[in-house]
Amino acid sequence: MIKLKGCPKCKGDIVLDSDTHGWYEQCLQCGYLHERPDVGREVYRMPEKERELVPVG
Ligand SMILES: [Zn+2]
Repeated sequence: MIKLKGCPKCKGDIVLDSDTHGWYEQCLQCGYLHERPDVGREVYRMPEKERELVPVG
């Protein structure tokens, strides 16, 4: 998922991604990184086959 012009530093494009620690936003232009612990938290607690049913964001 990409959020156009979402970067607070350079107004660049932000991509929302996740790793083993959780969700984060990263700017494609300047590398600005912002963790998003609020996103996807409920999803990770669920069995894998139910994750797709939960809307993210
Ligand atoms: Zn930026």
